[in-house]
Amino acid sequence: MENSAKTVYRFQGNLYINLTNRCPNACVFCMKTKFSMVFNGYNLNLEGKEPCAEDVLKEICRQTQEAPVGEIVFCGYGEPTMRLETLLQIASTLKEKMAKGEYPKTPLRLNTLGLGNLVYGRDITGDLAKVLDSVSISINSPEQEQWLKIVRPLPQYRENGYKSVLEFIKLLAQKMDNVVVSIVDKQGIDAAKTKALAESLGAKFRLREFI
Ligand code: SF4
Repeated sequence: MENSAKTVYRFQGNLYINLTNRCPNACVFCMKTKFSMVFNGYNLNLEGKEPCAEDVLKEICRQTQEAPVGEIVFCGYGEPTMRLETLLQIASTLKEKMAKGEYPKTPLRLNTLGLGNLVYGRDITGDLAKVLDSVSISINSPEQEQWLKIVRPLPQYRENGYKSVLEFIKLLAQKMDNVVVSIVDKQGIDAAKTKALAESLGAKFRLREFI
């Protein structure tokens, strides 16, 4: 295991960006607790030292020179939109570099829990759609009650959280083609109902394997 915290790490040919460990939820299956902040040998515990956009961009470029990259994914261990400005800065700089031929054309994806609009008190989907190619939202349940039990949001997000996640998906799907709603398989979550919900909001559906 590496000791220094990884802000950019390679997994299955993609680069994953670890911008923050902060999160408005405390999911029952959170990998932060499951793997003690270590994933595939990478230490992802930032210990509060969140990276700046410049350092992340340098690291992305350095690792891209070592081997080709399939996709760049804003992921975590934490909720990437808690660093919205930094995320947008990194993504927009990469897009500019791609347009100028200074960085290979590479899809940019965000993995999120979908609470960004509620956290910021405004619609952030337009900002995201401008710089990302796809967004994957872990909805965790097709029902509010089960969602509350699984994701255990902070008190200020309990009442309006689920409604806000659904609105976030709908608004994003109006602006982007690749909006994917996912749940983890074999966790007692109704996949058919979640798929129907995702499609009713204009999004795609994906059943993820339990790691
Ligand atoms: S959204 Fe992700 S980081 Fe946050 S508590 Fe859930 S699993 Fe953990």
